[in-house]
This record gives sequence, structure tokens and C-alpha cells, in this order.
Amino acid sequence: MNTSKQSWQQFDADHIWHPYTSLTNPLPTYSIESASGVRLKLTNGTELIDGMSSWWAAIHGYNHPAINQAIAEQTAKMTHVMFGGISHKPATALAQKLIELTPTQLENVFFSDSGSVAVEVAMKMALQYCQNTNKKEHNKFLTIRGGYHGDTFLAMSVCDPVTGMHSLFNKVLQKNYFADKPTRRFNEQWNAQDINSFKQLIRQHHNELAAVILEPIVQGAGGMWFYHPEYLRQVRELCDKYNVLLILDEIATGFGRTGVMFACEHSGISPDIMCVGKALTGGNISLAATLSTKQVAEGICNNNHVFMHGPTFMGNPLACAIANASLDLLCNSPWQQNITRIEKTLQIGLEPCRKSPNVADVRVLGAIGVVELKKQVNQATTQAEFVKQGVWIRPFGKLVYLMPPFIIDDKDLQQLISAVVEITTK
Ligand SMILES: *Cc1c(COP(=O)(O)O)cnc(C)c1O
Repeated sequence: MNTSKQSWQQFDADHIWHPYTSLTNPLPTYSIESASGVRLKLTNGTELIDGMSSWWAAIHGYNHPAINQAIAEQTAKMTHVMFGGISHKPATALAQKLIELTPTQLENVFFSDSGSVAVEVAMKMALQYCQNTNKKEHNKFLTIRGGYHGDTFLAMSVCDPVTGMHSLFNKVLQKNYFADKPTRRFNEQWNAQDINSFKQLIRQHHNELAAVILEPIVQGAGGMWFYHPEYLRQVRELCDKYNVLLILDEIATGFGRTGVMFACEHSGISPDIMCVGKALTGGNISLAATLSTKQVAEGICNNNHVFMHGPTFMGNPLACAIANASLDLLCNSPWQQNITRIEKTLQIGLEPCRKSPNVADVRVLGAIGVVELKKQVNQATTQAEFVKQGVWIRPFGKLVYLMPPFIIDDKDLQQLISAVVEITTK
């Protein structure tokens, strides 16, 4: 096939899949030349203020000199070497940092290449733990509706059945249990009834459960919902009561986004297994990790068993070096002050949206601001309107949301907010 005469934009539209799109009727794409600080630069020279952090990830903005330096230094030594039978400082330093930053009980680290794989690994850990500790019947998972855990099959089996399109994959997906979505908001008065559905399911099915898995406090791609910390606290209590492992998927919430380092801190609880990804490398390269307690690790390995997973690019030194630099940047920055400032500005700035007849709800937590509309947005036209306003904001479904890099200044943040207010209220 002769492709030389096509522009590369046309080539893209004809040949390349983008996330959740059609190849026969593709959505428009924008050509980005470079990115720096909180700005994405289009090939035509236009600059857009980034409201998305490239999906929760680019917390320090783009093209950061400290990250670039870490990339150059590690590249001069080695970009990759297999992890089977080999170890290196970038991975061990990162594991040590993660163990220090996460709740105390988490002591063991499994590195993988993406969030979905980190979730697969977490679920496999729970299954192998049960297999090896006389709980052979424990093969199911319990989660809550409205969740998102990734696009691979085991991860999909615990995504919301509706937004996760379970009907498409019915014959392949393992059947798991879904409690009602928590209804009490983060800042609302707690209502004891909210936990009833979960409580009933765990009571009924604990003898079949390998683990409970959920996103702590913030449900991300499943609907951008912030639920009450007491819900999660009671989930932990019930898991303990029925002796079921708790997996927390902190892939979106980890590393400060909700105002605390990990969202489970809002509830003062810690999981048996935790997944991190996305902002782990400051959004520079794909890397994820699954942490577990010693009890889980020892259960899996009892009687000379091994954990059955090992990606080709496991513990990639370049990715680990970038993550180390990103975590140093984060920990040495006033990130809590930044998040508080962003949160207040979002709360005040998005307030006018509430008065619009188009708007169903406005909610803000940490550096996340969500405007839920009454109707689905037209993604292509709304995206174009945002670009015209000089901002990069990508709505989905009924949701227009902001999760800017933590380093954004007030002026740029105001411009993001003004664009959201204008477009959602007109
Ligand atoms: C993005 C996300 C995942 C999947 O991560 P990928 O790197 O896209 O595979 C899993 N869980 C949550 C909560 C996420 O936000």
C-alpha cells in the first residue's frame, strides 16, 4: 500500500486506533508538536492550557528539567535490562520510596508496565493467596458499581457493568458481585444505610470471595464520583470481619490528587493490596506497581510456591529512574498547599455552573473539578470549542472535568475554569 502521499494526520485517521474510537468514523484528533509546563503546543503554533494532566498523570506539567535530567542520566547507563535474575538501583530505590510513602503494612512491590496490568497482578495475588491458604473455593470478587479498573479482562470484570460494557463481553468475563454505588458524598452527613448493599453481599458471599476491590473515595473513569470516607472505613471493617482481602486501586487517586498522598488516608485505613500507576512517573512514561502486605506475600509463597507473573519490561530502569525523580519532585514540593489552592479556586470558580439549567451537579475534591451535565456532550464539537478558547479539556459522557497539573498557577487555572463555565452554561 502506498501511503506516502497522505498527510500524517490523514494517515492517522485511516490507520491508527485512538482510545475508545471508531476507525471507520473516527473522532477528530489534534496534532501536538511539543508540551512544556502546563501548555500543549499544536503543530500550527497554538498553545493550549492543559486541564487534563494527560489523564491524572502529568502532575508536574510537561518537559520538566529535573525529569529530563533523570532521563538523560539513566539513558547514559542503561534504558532496559531484564528483571529475571537481575536487579538494579532504579528499581530498588523506587520500591523503597513506595514502601515508605504508602500505608505502613504494605511491604512488597511488584512492578508492571500499566495500570490495567497492576490490577490483574493484584487480583492474581488475591487468587493465588486463597489457593495457597486453604480457600480454594474463593474465586470471585466483590466491588461497587460505578468503578473503573482498566481494560484487560479480569480488570474489566470489576468495572461498572454498564459503563464497562459487560454485555459486549458477556461470554468471556468472569461474573463478579456488584454492590450499589455509594450515594453519600464526600462532604455530606454519613447515612448508615449507604453500606447496606455492600454489607449484604459480603455477608452472603464471603465464602466465595478472593477479595474486595475498589477505588478509594474517588471513582474516576466510571463517573467521577466522590463518596463518603466512612463508606471505605466500613468496607475495611467488613473485610476484616469476614476475613476477605481488600484491594485498593489508587491508580488515579495516588500521589496527592485528592489532597492526601493516597485517598485511603481520608478514611484512615490501609489495604492488603494496593495498585499505583498514572502519576507514578509524573506522566512521562508508563509504569505501575502492585504493593502488598507481608501476610499476602507469604501466603502466596507458602510451601515453595511462586507468584505467576513476570512482564518482559518488568522494573524497567528508565521508567523507575523517572518515577524516582518524579517522587522526589513531589515530596520536595509544597504539593498540599498547591492542591488546597487548586481546590478552593475550583470550588469558587465552578460555582456559577450550578445555576445553569444544563447542569445536573458540580463537585470538587482536591485538584479535581467536575461539572455533570444533564445531557451527553458532543465530544467532537465541545472539544473544538475548548480548543478555540485556548484550553485542553476532554469531556466524556455527561462529564466536563478538570484535573490540572499541580504546578498550574492561578491565572492559567482561571482560564481553564472560565472556559468550563462558559461552555457548560451557554
Ligand atoms: C487508568 C486507570 C486504570 C488503568 O490504567 P492503564 O494504565 O490505563 O492500564 C486502572 N484503574 C484506575 C482507577 C484508573 O484510573
